[in-house]
Amino acid sequence: MITIRPIPAFSDNYIWHLQQDREHWVVDPGDADPVIEVLGGAHLSGILLTHHHFDHTGGVKTLKEKYDCEVFGPGSIEGVTHPIQDGDQFSLMGCDWRVLSVPGHTLDHLALILEAEGDTHLFCGDTLFAAGCGRLFEGTPEQMYHSLSRLTSLPRDTKVYCAHEYTLANLAFASAAEPGNQAIGKRIAEAQETRQQDRPTLPSTIGLELETNPFLRTQSEEIRTNAVAHGADVKGNPVEIFATLRQWKDTF
Ligand SMILES: [Zn+2]
Repeated sequence: MITIRPIPAFSDNYIWHLQQDREHWVVDPGDADPVIEVLGGAHLSGILLTHHHFDHTGGVKTLKEKYDCEVFGPGSIEGVTHPIQDGDQFSLMGCDWRVLSVPGHTLDHLALILEAEGDTHLFCGDTLFAAGCGRLFEGTPEQMYHSLSRLTSLPRDTKVYCAHEYTLANLAFASAAEPGNQAIGKRIAEAQETRQQDRPTLPSTIGLELETNPFLRTQSEEIRTNAVAHGADVKGNPVEIFATLRQWKDTF
């Protein structure tokens, strides 16, 4: 059986640690030290990367030198031994993986989908967050909107492993964007309790995101009204509503 646990790094990053028997992999190791500490004396088989930002890749060089491990990720990133791209499929830890290109936060951004024992697991880096989405550093709103649509077409019970603990801040924005959505209030209460116990609010699920994430809810009348109040065209298409929400969140 595969186990998936978060390794906290920096102030709010999660490096996801996957273990199957004696095989260990990590996703987006921005820092090597916490990974080495968690592994103890165990060997790291490999690294998976979603995008090039330093808080996701900063530990690659040290880990690769220490463990001589494989590195799967966008081919543009230094140290990658197995370049992967949209549509690729491969097998790791006896499980099937597939790759989706999800540009927007960065242009090289990939989402990694793991099928294990009947469950779907999504490692989405900084594209989809609990109740939020990544900032548009390189891509356009249209690209990000399309990328998020690709992720929400996954099964509703897909477990979503985001790379940051941003949930409470994102829910505060979600509540402002759609105050009438009772599922958001319920989620805030649950997330507050979880954080008070110093536990991660992740993984999320695609179903929960569809219910509470404003960036996936551009069809909501209330969200459309509030987006128009923040500058979107009254007849705005979903991409324009999304773009207005993203700008509003940037200064929220
Ligand atoms: Zn990033």
